Amino acid sequence: MANSRQDETSVHEVVWISHRGDEHCVKCGREISRGNLVQVNQRDGVRCVSCAGYDDLCFLPAGDAKLTRLATSVSSRVVVVVKWSSARKRHERQGILVDEPAYDAALQQAEAEAASKRGRSKFRVLEMDGEKVLWKQ
Ligand SMILES: [Zn+2]
Repeated sequence: MANSRQDETSVHEVVWISHRGDEHCVKCGREISRGNLVQVNQRDGVRCVSCAGYDDLCFLPAGDAKLTRLATSVSSRVVVVVKWSSARKRHERQGILVDEPAYDAALQQAEAEAASKRGRSKFRVLEMDGEKVLWKQ
């Protein structure tokens, strides 16, 4: 990949969940600890989510194709979150980053599904620090 700038019109941007824990953002120098999101790009190197411009996006865990589809269709930006699985020697999709309105739409959908039929939604809506978040069951 000589030109590693991703074509955002055809391919979603991708961020990784860091499994190293010893990386630093090339832009702000912040240490990126294990489990944090990083953007890896051959041209720019490793960047933290703030420097990559993903700070305002919300993480929607994978697991419910319907919710993912819904959020993807309404979000202005979609970033795929992947993680390296050393056991399987491949990258596995963990979820997506979507904008706030899309995340809220997914929350509402999950709540509605959970209310209408018990156990139908794969997600629970939890209250964390006063904010509602989706939690995969
Ligand atoms: Zn940074």
